[in-house]
Amino acid sequence: MILGAGASLQAFPTGEMKGNKLPLMCNFVETVGLNLEFRKYGLDYEGKNFEDIYSDLYQNSKYEELVEVIKTKVWSYFSKLELPPNPTMYDHLVLSLRDKDLIATFNWDPFLYYACWRNHEIAELPRVVYLHGNVAIGYCLTDMEAGLTNTKCTKCGRKYVPSQLLFPIKQKDYNRDPFIKSEWGTLRLFLKHAYMVTIFGYSAPYVDVEAIKLMKDAWGSPCSRNLEQTEIIDVKPKQALRDVWKDFIHTHHYHVTNDFYKSSIGLFPRRTCEAEWNYTMPERLAFYPHNPIPKNLGFKELWEWYGSLIEAENKEVHT
Ligand SMILES: [Zn+2]
Repeated sequence: MILGAGASLQAFPTGEMKGNKLPLMCNFVETVGLNLEFRKYGLDYEGKNFEDIYSDLYQNSKYEELVEVIKTKVWSYFSKLELPPNPTMYDHLVLSLRDKDLIATFNWDPFLYYACWRNHEIAELPRVVYLHGNVAIGYCLTDMEAGLTNTKCTKCGRKYVPSQLLFPIKQKDYNRDPFIKSEWGTLRLFLKHAYMVTIFGYSAPYVDVEAIKLMKDAWGSPCSRNLEQTEIIDVKPKQALRDVWKDFIHTHHYHVTNDFYKSSIGLFPRRTCEAEWNYTMPERLAFYPHNPIPKNLGFKELWEWYGSLIEAENKEVHT
């Protein structure tokens, strides 16, 4: 799964636990509260993509001071975001994938990290990589280990260095930071071997040429991907999404929905590939029954519900 800002907005449409709003790249400056700084420099930001503007500022030494202010403000905005105490879409997401799966996120908010943290004793969770850095994640370069910021490396005992946020995306430089480079390496490996890819709320800004190129190279030509299934969870019109992601789609092998709970992950939690395989293979025309994620359960009941699926996996009996 490739995750973008639209996913956090879908999880918390009216804001997170304390009411802080989740920004998209088109309303980022206002939401994060950078308007005053931008006005001070006479910069026009309304309706523009923040990552695009940031890339331009970063390249111009005149804005050095502003770039620092932006970094600090963005860091403090995202690090104060919190998950509410009851299960959220992020908890459902991490419990519905398995340890063979990967979530590659572009988001800076800490929701995915916290969701993994509070569910990790229940099941083997999917692997997570942070393609643009994350406020929750620090790393130790000596030992190539990552963990919660402000905690210590389990090998050398030194504090993790906070990951860098705000990649100037026009610079095409995902290789410069060793942590980010290794995250992209993992995504490439998983994409190469994936049977299904789900793109959730990631708008693929046209300026992020490098991101698209890296993913495209790993996925390969859609013609050679004649079994694989691409799924898009996004609120944008279907045709527009098909155009953006055409390099990842083999003929009709794609599915678009605007609701996570109606996606294959929402309808076949922990069994997405099995369900898809059953659906597409002519010799197995039996439809896999829907098993929708129960949205309104508390943690105890929710964990019990997933328990039966996990138990079946442990017995290697896939029901
Ligand atoms: Zn270390």
